[in-house]
Amino acid sequence: MAPDPLGQAGPGRPADPVPLALAGPARGARARPPRHLADLPLAQRRDVVAGLGQPPFRASQLSRHFFGRYTDRPEEMTDLPRDARDPLAQALLPRLLTAERELSCDAGTTRKTLWRTFDGALVESVLMRYPDRVTMCVSSQAGCGMACPFCATGQAGLTRNLSTAEIVAQVVAGARVLADGHVPGGPGRVSNVVFMGMGEPLANYAAVIAAVRRLTDPVPAGMGISQRSVTVSTVGLVPAIARLAAERFSVTLAVSLHAPDDELRDTLVPVNRRWPVAEVLAAAWDYAAATGRRVSIEYALIRDINDQAWRADLLGSLLAGQLAHVNLIPLNPTPGSKWTASRPAAQREFVRRLQAHGVPVTVRDTRGREIDGACGQLAASVLVPAAAEPSP
Ligand code: SAH
Repeated sequence: MAPDPLGQAGPGRPADPVPLALAGPARGARARPPRHLADLPLAQRRDVVAGLGQPPFRASQLSRHFFGRYTDRPEEMTDLPRDARDPLAQALLPRLLTAERELSCDAGTTRKTLWRTFDGALVESVLMRYPDRVTMCVSSQAGCGMACPFCATGQAGLTRNLSTAEIVAQVVAGARVLADGHVPGGPGRVSNVVFMGMGEPLANYAAVIAAVRRLTDPVPAGMGISQRSVTVSTVGLVPAIARLAAERFSVTLAVSLHAPDDELRDTLVPVNRRWPVAEVLAAAWDYAAATGRRVSIEYALIRDINDQAWRADLLGSLLAGQLAHVNLIPLNPTPGSKWTASRPAAQREFVRRLQAHGVPVTVRDTRGREIDGACGQLAASVLVPAAAEPSP
């Protein structure tokens, strides 16, 4: 079991008491995670510090510990006066996530963590180390309300939105494990963040946008990760894509298309009934024009469902000439799913036809499969009963 960097229960302080009927994983907007410095811009952290009767520059000191040294432990903050450490940490650095389970594969270079939040919700994050980069795949919601039938997270519905700090803490935890040299390959840094864990990031817009700021602002305001190395992935919530474009970030937008025609996409990505393919793609091209960033079109290849040659041609004709590339994901079958990944020949033909339209294509590797840490397999609710069983 790896060390548990940010992992003891926070001093759970829900804004309202949770009614008995809703005990367990919180539902609705009642439960509020305790305030954390990663929820606040630096100026507001200074106000909190001043309110405690401390000089405002202590906000920067605390922030450096969290965003630069990945610690929230008062005893490690030796530049702070001893008697100020505990009150400051209690006010601004509550533990938000408890590591409930840690699984690794790919010789230790893929690590999935199941986190428990202060109110018992479960979320997962995955760290993936490659020769040239380290990517953290983070959750933006506990569960997801989008109900895509091929996605494990979608099956259990939405529990609640995560707070900004709950999102950021997943990345900071990965950064700490890496900095401490606990991932094979020597000490390292998180270079990339993808919002491809549990949840629909654009359905938790304000918290996700603030998390992008915290991740990408320089230390001490934030973690100093490059905006170009952050990817926000969406089912295609058109008004929110337009809002994101107006933020003028240089983050990458990934659109989970999965079908080029409304008839099929209505079933694979139910929100398509509200914002159909043409509207989603129009929003994506507006995003590309506003930011200059190439949009990533995600397409899970599902055998005999969306992998036909004619669909490859239709997709190719929709994307030709646009600032886009296609990321094909061999479907990771989820428990009980009647669907499976495409045959190799169908996948090759799909790639060939897209390329014939001049559309750049990559096939995503399927890291973390053995630990259910691969795309679409993050389903913490499924792990709950398993956690109660004797370990294998
Ligand atoms: N809600 C966001 C983030 C979800 S996960 C979104 O939909 O984009 C990131 C990607 O994994 C999405 O493209 C999603 O469609 C895909 N995915 C989900 N389940 C999958 C599965 N079983 N196999 C392959 N990809 C899957």
